[in-house]
Amino acid sequence: MIRIGTAGIPSVVKTSQEAIPWLREHSLGAMEVEFVRGVKMSTETAKKLGELSKKNNVALSVHAPYYINLCNPEKREASVKRILDSAKRAEFFDGPVVVHAGFYGKSDHCFDDVLEACEEMASKTSATIGLETMGRTSQFGTLDELLPIVKKVDGCVPVVDFAHIYARNFGRIDYDEILDKVSYLKHVHAHFSGINYGDHGEKNHEPIGHPDFTELAKRLLKRKMDITLICESPLLEKDALKMKSILESLK
Ligand SMILES: [Zn+2]
Repeated sequence: MIRIGTAGIPSVVKTSQEAIPWLREHSLGAMEVEFVRGVKMSTETAKKLGELSKKNNVALSVHAPYYINLCNPEKREASVKRILDSAKRAEFFDGPVVVHAGFYGKSDHCFDDVLEACEEMASKTSATIGLETMGRTSQFGTLDELLPIVKKVDGCVPVVDFAHIYARNFGRIDYDEILDKVSYLKHVHAHFSGINYGDHGEKNHEPIGHPDFTELAKRLLKRKMDITLICESPLLEKDALKMKSILESLK
């Protein structure tokens, strides 16, 4: 099954509670709850939202705060706390808590730091921890860096951000290579959008266009992928609906 959803609340409604039925009515099957500027939802609300999402068959995931760096010893404890706070809400949802692991900085042991933090966090939550592939060359998180970690830690998965991979490779992407690498998963959680890039990789997300969605959609259908695609375009639900219609037109 291919689910397409929005990163946050569609612009036409105001709350997550309103968003879920709206998404269902428009044949969108997912939403990522954004805690990017802090975890502001109570666990009580998350529980209610989880129940509503199951009734409406809209899969929810969580995006943890941006202010996280597992590679910096001074920021690690607060980072783990932010992720676990997010995870406590995600425990009521079907999808993972999506995490930007950190920046290399001067550290030469980023890999070990992220691995250790993931082992600790996975032992403390039943939510799946999703490590996102990152778009800037300063950020830890190419798919090849993340795979050995997520394969080692139970309850940890890679989150494939196709736009980030494209930006980090300066406008190149091999969808088949990526999909092969994550084919060991029963279900893939992914992000998609257009993107602008420069010498250091990602600059900003853009409306869908580059990388090409049609090429990805063809492969997802051919492989009968079980995948959730969260649209992170600035046009949000407009582009999610566009992705949905491209997908339908290829069936
Ligand atoms: Zn992200």
